[in-house]
Amino acid sequence: MSITIADHIRDIPRSGIRDFFEIVQSMDDVISLGIGEPDFATPWHIREAAIYALERGRTGYTSNLGLPRLRRSISDYINKHFAIRYEPLSEILVSVGVSEAIDLALRALLNAGDEVIYHEPCYVSYAPTITMAHGVPVPVRTRAEDGFSLRAEDLEKVITPRSRALMLNFPTNPTGATMEPAELEKIAAVCIRHNLVVLSDEIYSELTYEGAKHTSIAVFPGMKERTVFLHGLSKAFAMTGWRIGFACAPAPLIEAMMKIHQYSILCASIMGQDAAIEALDRGEHSVAQMRREYEMRRNFIVSALNEMGLECRCPRGSFYVFPKITSTGLSSRDFSMRLLQEKKVAVVPGPAFGAGGEGHVRCSFATALPQIKIAMQRMAEFVGELKRESAMVS
Ligand code: PLP
Repeated sequence: MSITIADHIRDIPRSGIRDFFEIVQSMDDVISLGIGEPDFATPWHIREAAIYALERGRTGYTSNLGLPRLRRSISDYINKHFAIRYEPLSEILVSVGVSEAIDLALRALLNAGDEVIYHEPCYVSYAPTITMAHGVPVPVRTRAEDGFSLRAEDLEKVITPRSRALMLNFPTNPTGATMEPAELEKIAAVCIRHNLVVLSDEIYSELTYEGAKHTSIAVFPGMKERTVFLHGLSKAFAMTGWRIGFACAPAPLIEAMMKIHQYSILCASIMGQDAAIEALDRGEHSVAQMRREYEMRRNFIVSALNEMGLECRCPRGSFYVFPKITSTGLSSRDFSMRLLQEKKVAVVPGPAFGAGGEGHVRCSFATALPQIKIAMQRMAEFVGELKRESAMVS
């Protein structure tokens, strides 16, 4: 018997990152700057709170929307850090990571053929998740010379009568781009004018540097009612494995998302939810400590890359740098493959994040500084060897 796979799933390409990292895993002694995951373990006070909850026998299902106590903590946290007020009982849903929340929002909003716009280069899952929800992905290229932020006029150019939603992710994976509030306000005006819903993925919002404060698009007048605010604990709290995210949105949309969540997932794990309460209520100090460490690493990696001749903007957020590698004469994929094979350093080829990523590679600085230092040394040798190779040819 041959099993037939649904057309819209069969046609989704495998993630470029996954293919690449299968090769990395088959090699020894590789320094990986490829992974989008904090190298820190979850801060001890958060782990301890979860252990204590387990000891008290908290091992069952929770309400579909998530523990009411956690939803209150989320509401307070967002009010304090983002100045947006969400009603804990009707406007917040706890999900299995931001990943699930994005999927729920798209499935609840889209009819087949609705278009969803997103800025590219972007997180690898956006286009496939839109397709899986029967939507049509519509990328808008962002440019290195604009710091990879989204221009309102570029957004406006791709809007059609089928446009339904805009996905935003600032600070951005993979570029580290952030948006100035005035620019974001222009994007908000376009969304209001064209009646777009905004899915705002704020997962890196605590990881901004030089004291820069993140602004969510949901704060602008007329935006809270058309924004799905998506956030989670994976990155800033170093809690990727706990799988806790959340969506905040108008009650009717949360209700629709809850139906999908209820029948497909039931609820996020109670262990993760108990840990998340501690993280949101008392984790600020731990986040600040990790942010200081990331900022130090960022400063080091940006100067090292520029010194070796790879042009690299200093990202204002996230834990990624996105240097340009065109001066080496190699494509992103050849650069990454040769760097891996010749120097055992793994970086992600830019096109894994969309066609606009060609000419770049993504290096994560969520790796300990001593490792980053060795990786930069090896990469400088590699770039030097490439230069000598090309000088010999010409
Ligand atoms: N959104 C962005 C922009 C990401 O970079 C990631 C993970 O890398 C996610 C969402 C997924 O996060 P979670 O672990 O909360 O599912």
